[in-house]
Amino acid sequence: MEEKNYDYLFKILVIGDYEVGKTSLITRFSQDIFSEDNFLTIAIDFKTKIIEIDNKLIKVALWDPCSGSERFLLPLNSHYRGSHGIVINYDITDKQKFINLRKWIDEILKKAPLETRMILIGNKCDLSNERKVTEEEGKKLADEFGLLFFETSAKTGYNVNFAIETLIADIIKHYKKFEERKIKLKKDDTKNISDKKNRCYK
Ligand code: GDP
Ligand code: MG
Repeated sequence: MEEKNYDYLFKILVIGDYEVGKTSLITRFSQDIFSEDNFLTIAIDFKTKIIEIDNKLIKVALWDPCSGSERFLLPLNSHYRGSHGIVINYDITDKQKFINLRKWIDEILKKAPLETRMILIGNKCDLSNERKVTEEEGKKLADEFGLLFFETSAKTGYNVNFAIETLIADIIKHYKKFEERKIKLKKDDTKNISDKKNRCYK
């Protein structure tokens, strides 16, 4: 059996239209490599990497629930199960896919569990000559839906680790609150039971 050598395991879904760079982002983050053309044919489920934040070892599992599809495919409800974070990925050189994103974000926000943290990533920012979506437009969309936001380049590696690590730090912050709330709820439950007991049996 594999020895558990981390403090937290977080499952992150990477969602977006085809060819925006999902597989490239996952591969850059987990293996620090990039390929111009190879990834399209490779359907991956997930890749993992262990990082350190605040003296804690965190195993990050990046999932590609839409891999292998020819078009934007929404994750199934079952994909969301147990996910702590979602990366919503677009391509800064493709205006139409950026416009389409709005209805997908809407849908994702409806389906994802309340405690899931999300980040909007505008990828391929190395292609500045082909840019069709400004950084301000990306930021505005992110603000509208309350998402974290970064531009990245899976090709050069620019901001890739930083963006994912910011999402992880955000998850940890909210995860603690979430766990505390669960513990508190449990205590309140016990209190209610003993209160009831007191009322019934005294
Ligand atoms: P996916 O369909 O969303 O998984 O997209 P891929 O990761 O397969 O990438 C689609 C194409 O875009 C491939 O040819 C990649 O090499 C290219 N690509 C991905 N990320 C970048 C990037 O940051 N910059 C540039 N210039 N090309 C990228
Ligand atoms: Mg892919």
